[in-house]
Amino acid sequence: GRFTGAVEVFTEISTRQALSQQVEELKKLALIDPLTELPNRRHFEAQLHSQLEELRRSRVSFGLLFIDIDHFKQVNDLHGHGVGDQVLSTVAKTLLHAIRPFDLVARWGGEEFTGIFPHAQAEDLLGIADRLRILVANSPAETDTGPLTVTISIGGTVASPDDSPASLLKRADDLMYQSKANGRNRVAVG
Ligand code: GH3
Ligand code: MG
Ligand code: MG
Repeated sequence: GRFTGAVEVFTEISTRQALSQQVEELKKLALIDPLTELPNRRHFEAQLHSQLEELRRSRVSFGLLFIDIDHFKQVNDLHGHGVGDQVLSTVAKTLLHAIRPFDLVARWGGEEFTGIFPHAQAEDLLGIADRLRILVANSPAETDTGPLTVTISIGGTVASPDDSPASLLKRADDLMYQSKANGRNRVAVG
């Protein structure tokens, strides 16, 4: 039950390995949003493009969600940008922990997030979006000024083979605005 010695093992990393590690780090810098650590818009757009290709090739459909935090400007105005950042980071974690490994949620920009859900039909998408909405509304962020709760409005739509990334995003964005107009903290799927 006593330590009598210890062994330290050193491994030499070859130049090639170091280089590929550097490439991985650069890729991460290019594709990850530093504040939330979610995939960024660039990453999302690349994934969206390949999902649409896959849909045209093998008819594997997917759902897309557009998510926007409600009255987020007020959070910044009342508590400061730093607290706003803490809230953004918490919302991102809540979303990330609520999805399955093969789903993708990204930070689209500002207080907006987008998601891709392989195989989801309209009914599934409605269930997923409502689950995310309820989780965010019940997961206060621990901030420097105490716990803060925000809500999200969501628009969701199922991709069809003749969609472009732009047409798909526009449909989800329009439905998100419908959720806003209907009172926020809501989901609209169409
Ligand atoms: P709505 O319910 O209609 O979406 O209202 P809103 O206030 O959320 O929408 P608006 O577009 O007016 O404001 C978005 C705010 O998000 C304004 C901007 O300062 C803030 N914001 C965007 N990116 C960041 C960020 O990285 N950090 C912080 N703290 N705030 C951000
Ligand atoms: Mg917005
Ligand atoms: Mg907003």
